[in-house]
Amino acid sequence: VRTLTEFDTIAAISTPIGEGGISIVRMSGEDAIKIANRVFKGKDLEAVDSHTIHYGHIVDPAKKMTIDEAMVSVLRAPKTFTREDIVEINCHGGIVVTNHILQLLLANGARMADPGEFTKRAFVNGRIDLTQAESVMDIVRAKTDKARQVAVGQLAGGLLTKIRQMRQEILDTLANVEVNIDYPEYDADQITAKQMTETSQKVIDQIDQLLQTAQEGTILRNGLATAIVGQPNVGKSSLLNYLTQSDKAIVTDVAGTTRDTLEEYVSVRGVPLKLIDTAGIHDTEDKVEKIGVERSQKALSQADLVLLLIDASHDLTEEDRKLLEMTADKKRIIVLNKMDLGQVLTVDAVKELTGSEVVTTSILKQKNMADLEDMIKKLFFAGIENSNDQILVTNQRQTGLLNKSKQELLDVIKALEDEVPVDIAQIDFTGAWETLGEITGDSAPDELVNALFSQFCLGK
Ligand code: GDP
Ligand code: ZN
Repeated sequence: VRTLTEFDTIAAISTPIGEGGISIVRMSGEDAIKIANRVFKGKDLEAVDSHTIHYGHIVDPAKKMTIDEAMVSVLRAPKTFTREDIVEINCHGGIVVTNHILQLLLANGARMADPGEFTKRAFVNGRIDLTQAESVMDIVRAKTDKARQVAVGQLAGGLLTKIRQMRQEILDTLANVEVNIDYPEYDADQITAKQMTETSQKVIDQIDQLLQTAQEGTILRNGLATAIVGQPNVGKSSLLNYLTQSDKAIVTDVAGTTRDTLEEYVSVRGVPLKLIDTAGIHDTEDKVEKIGVERSQKALSQADLVLLLIDASHDLTEEDRKLLEMTADKKRIIVLNKMDLGQVLTVDAVKELTGSEVVTTSILKQKNMADLEDMIKKLFFAGIENSNDQILVTNQRQTGLLNKSKQELLDVIKALEDEVPVDIAQIDFTGAWETLGEITGDSAPDELVNALFSQFCLGK
């Protein structure tokens, strides 16, 4: 249901603020073309064809002052992202000029868009579903090609299709329930119970498949929090330098990406690693010995993956053992470094001792670095990277709802086993259908929709 404010015309700068090149100010709504016309000199925009672009000047009508040269796109509803009239003003950029143009639009009848409001309109107007809306956000934030690929797949409706299939199965079964009830001469309850149990199990299996992708999906989206630990001088900085060398460091040049310089991201064979506390690694250079373990403790608490470096040319030290113990319950790769200095510790021996993935390297001589990279990739994309199935569950909202609907279906099966009457079991069965609908927004409550879209960046 649209509220009144959703009919007005919204505007925002939709390219990152402060970047060079071209900036885009975007408007959507009934008056978008009329408002643009008030500030544009060159052509009558209300007379032009849809999906055309026009050269001219942006002029402040009150002050009769030219602000900038511009290319203006006119896109009429309904074939637009929001299904409303859209005008995009491409200007020369620079924060002052871009802002000035935005202010002009606001002064001439547009309202400043809320974060995510363009995408929200696309959803409200039935152009996209919630999983697609979320994928718009993911594309904006995507940190690797793989992550972008998954988000694009989701935007194309992969997850949507899958969820709708599951809902259809439940619906078909519900329809049968009604038919069975209409023909009481059969042993209706028994037949219905059997169908409901079968469908529940079938949908649970499909939900499980999706949930298995959730971990990888989350990693793709957020980056795998990775801690590099090891005693002083073992090669941590060298590894960090290797990973952050230019061809691996992730340059996020997607519009709207927030550049949080405190986090260093690298891509290893398509796995985005978010390196934790890299400052800590550098710091240890200046300080003495023991600080390694203390500092590691904090980094370890946040880590999804630990790269534990150990000097291969010596026996395990006290500190090595301590770090092995501290990381025992973590997903970890033990890197036996400095193999070029002779190998006292072997891969097999350490594997035997720890039960972990172990690789031996020389970071200095760049030996076996590919093995380490392969290991990182293998650990997290077993079966995923090579499958054609690009459907990944990428966030907690989706995961939470999948788990909820799974539980409802498990309750159905349990109830029917306990010979609870079918029409009682049917309540949870219908509940699962609704819960699945919340994932796509087919049955999403309003607050959820609002909360979701408020996470977007401005201008999206
Ligand atoms: P950190 O204290 O753990 O960060 O260790 P650094 O990366 O600063 O390395 C300490 C020293 O070991 C430096 O002189 C590195 O060049 C050297 N180093 C790092 N990796 C290797 C290796 O694989 N073989 C050898 N021989 N030296 C290494
Ligand atoms: Zn160092």
